[in-house]
Amino acid sequence: MEVTQSVSRERKHTNITSSRFGRGCARGIGKELSRFLVCSMEIPWNLTKALLQAEPVHVVMVDTLEENIIEKQVKAAPACDCVVGIGGGQAIDLAKFFAWKLSVRLVTIPTVISVDAFVTAAAAIRRDHKIVYVGATSPDPLVIDYDLIRTAPAELNIAGVGDLLSIHTATYDWEIAERYKHSEFPFSQESVAKARSILKSHILDKECEIKSLSDEGLQTIIDGYIEINTICLPAGHYRVEEGSEHYIFYELESRLQRSFVHGHIVGLGVYLMSKLQNNESDAILTFMNNVGLRYQPKQMELTKADVIHSLKNLQQFIQAQKDLWFTVINVEEITDEWIATAIAKLEFNHD
Ligand SMILES: [Zn+2]
Repeated sequence: MEVTQSVSRERKHTNITSSRFGRGCARGIGKELSRFLVCSMEIPWNLTKALLQAEPVHVVMVDTLEENIIEKQVKAAPACDCVVGIGGGQAIDLAKFFAWKLSVRLVTIPTVISVDAFVTAAAAIRRDHKIVYVGATSPDPLVIDYDLIRTAPAELNIAGVGDLLSIHTATYDWEIAERYKHSEFPFSQESVAKARSILKSHILDKECEIKSLSDEGLQTIIDGYIEINTICLPAGHYRVEEGSEHYIFYELESRLQRSFVHGHIVGLGVYLMSKLQNNESDAILTFMNNVGLRYQPKQMELTKADVIHSLKNLQQFIQAQKDLWFTVINVEEITDEWIATAIAKLEFNHD
C-alpha cells in the first residue's frame, strides 16, 4: 500500500513521515498543496480555514465514523491528491481513513491534543458501532501549531496526559502477567523500563509546563506519544500503555452507554488500578491534582453508585470479554473494604 511505503526508513519506528512544530506553523500550508480535501468539524474548520491561505476542493464535516457511511463519503469525494485532517481525534481519524482509501498524501493539523490519533497509523472507525482499527497512514507533515492547539479548552489539552499516565499501571500489569506466566506477548523488561522513563521525563517531571500548556508543555506530551510509539509499533502491541486502567473505563462505557473524555476517565482508572496494584497511587493522585486533570467522578458526572458498581463488576466484566490482557484485576480480590478505601479520596456529586 502506497501510504505505508511512504514512511521513511529513518523514522520507521514512528508513523510520522515529517513534522512541523511551532507557533503559527500551520499558516499558509494550503499554498503548498494542490487539490486537497479537508476532513474537519465546524469549530476547528472555522478557526483554520483562513490560516491555510488556499481553498480545498471539498470539506467533509465529521458526523459519524460508521464504516458504511464514511465509505460512501469516500466514493462521493471529488478527485484530490491530498487529505488534510483538521481538529480532534475524530477529524484526524476520518482524514486517515480517506487518505488510506484514496491512497493519497495525508496532512494532519490537530487543534487539540486530548487523544493521540495524530501519532498512530491506523484509523479508529466504527463497524456496527464497535471501534475497529483499519489501514496504515503516515502524516506528511504532522503540523503542531501551538497557538492553534491553545485555542481548544485547556482541560481537553490537559486530558492528553491520560494515555501516558496509563504507562504507570499498564507496565505494572504486564509485569504481573509475566509473573503469573500469562503474558500474551514476549515480555520485555527493556520496554517496561523505557516506557517508564518516557512517563517520568515527558510527563511527571514536566508538571508546571503541562499545567500552563506552554509550548514546552504541549511538545512534551506530543513527544511522549511519539516516543511510546517507538516501543509499541515495532512490538506490534500496546501492552506498555494499556491495561487495567482502560478496562475499568470499558466497563463503565459499556454498562452506562455513555462517552467520556478519554484522558479524564483513564486518569480515574490509573488512580483506582494503581491503588489495587499497591503501586504509588498517592503520587499519581498528587500529579493529576497539580496539573488539573479532570479525573474526579463529579467532574464526569459519575455517581458514587456508578463507581462502586463498576469496581464490583470488574472481574466478571473482564472474564466475559475474551480479548482483554491479564492484569491486576485477574489476581487481586476487590472487596467492599478495599472499595471503601479506594474511593475515599474521590469526589462525587450524588450517591
Ligand atoms: Zn487510551
